[in-house]
Amino acid sequence: MKGKKLIVVYHRIGDTTCDYNRIVVNRDVFISQLDYFQEKYLVLSLDELQNYDGESDCIAITFDDGYEDFWTTAFPIMETRNIPVTVFVCSGRIDQSDEMWMNEIIRMCFFHSKYVEKIHLDFCGNNVALPLKSADDRVKTYNTLRRMFCQIGNEKKKQYIESIQKQLGLSNVGRSEYRMLSSTQIVELASNKLITIGAHTVSHPLLGELDEIDFRTEIQASIHSIERISNKKVELFSYPFGNINSYNDKIIQVLQSCGIKRAYTVENRALYEDEYDYTIPRIYMYNVEGEALESYMDLGDKNTDEDKDRYFGMGENDKLVNIDKVLIFGIGQNATAVANRVLQKNIKIIAFVVSEKKEQERTFMGHEIWNISEMIKYAKEEPIIIKNNQDFRIVEKLSKMGKNKVHWWI
Ligand SMILES: [Zn+2]
Repeated sequence: MKGKKLIVVYHRIGDTTCDYNRIVVNRDVFISQLDYFQEKYLVLSLDELQNYDGESDCIAITFDDGYEDFWTTAFPIMETRNIPVTVFVCSGRIDQSDEMWMNEIIRMCFFHSKYVEKIHLDFCGNNVALPLKSADDRVKTYNTLRRMFCQIGNEKKKQYIESIQKQLGLSNVGRSEYRMLSSTQIVELASNKLITIGAHTVSHPLLGELDEIDFRTEIQASIHSIERISNKKVELFSYPFGNINSYNDKIIQVLQSCGIKRAYTVENRALYEDEYDYTIPRIYMYNVEGEALESYMDLGDKNTDEDKDRYFGMGENDKLVNIDKVLIFGIGQNATAVANRVLQKNIKIIAFVVSEKKEQERTFMGHEIWNISEMIKYAKEEPIIIKNNQDFRIVEKLSKMGKNKVHWWI
């Protein structure tokens, strides 16, 4: 019988206190995870894993984003063990002193010292006030910013960040532990036989939410810049966030035209035997060890709903009051979790909505799948919409049509 193939994805190795978006694994825990992998699996590079045809279970290790602690902490440990690894680097973050936007919004919401009750943003001509008074307020504002920033271009994000920093009296120099790899470090890493460098866009957007011109630039520019710095051809890519909204057929076509031979998502399962090369799943690594690690890697019920909530910033139950029907955005594992909650509360699901509908996907969990224009057509008659990931562009479209009774799932 053929062996099981697994791929794991890490982000940072270091201090796990104040790790709001759960991207950090503690150094000692990381070592115990490597011990476990080496004992239980054949540890291979992504290329070796792809071509492996034997009977042993095997695993490949990847890192996303390109944090500096890969250089200072993670790789030295892996190098002494001769473990191959692929690092997917965000090209726009190389040599920068400010933080990547997902971390910057955490710094802004939780680590500012000035007392500010609310921050104000001009969003599509509306003044949006985001509260920062209580601990709950800060969590809510963080979730709102996170969803909002997933759906806007890089320039707009920079403007918002600058404006919030100004209101909070924060400088734009990031926390040192969130620093990213420098070009000098990348040059050296790329020359090491154990390391493969892949691309991960320029600015870490949710690609499926961008216009074609923007996702094309994010992909092409990141590949070119990493090829220039590393002096090697880039053939592997990982999707920022790695969920169902991170890719579609057009995005995959662009990757193919740029010479990318395989692309990786985040989905906690083993590879299928005939896995499609442009949506290869990877298991998201948390700070777990011992028995918890074993059951996590078992890929049974490895992910709790709570974990998904924290990582993907899903909606809250208390928004589900006085509502009798919903539309749910997406058809991935988040959407499934939202749908299960909704059904528990006896709320009717009208349909699932995706940005790009595939011909073969007509229903999900027994309900119709709609594309955005079908949803907007429906919204003309019925103004109530609930989504599990506030799509601000849709909200904007609907408010232009005079449909103001849109419920945002915050
Ligand atoms: Zn990433």
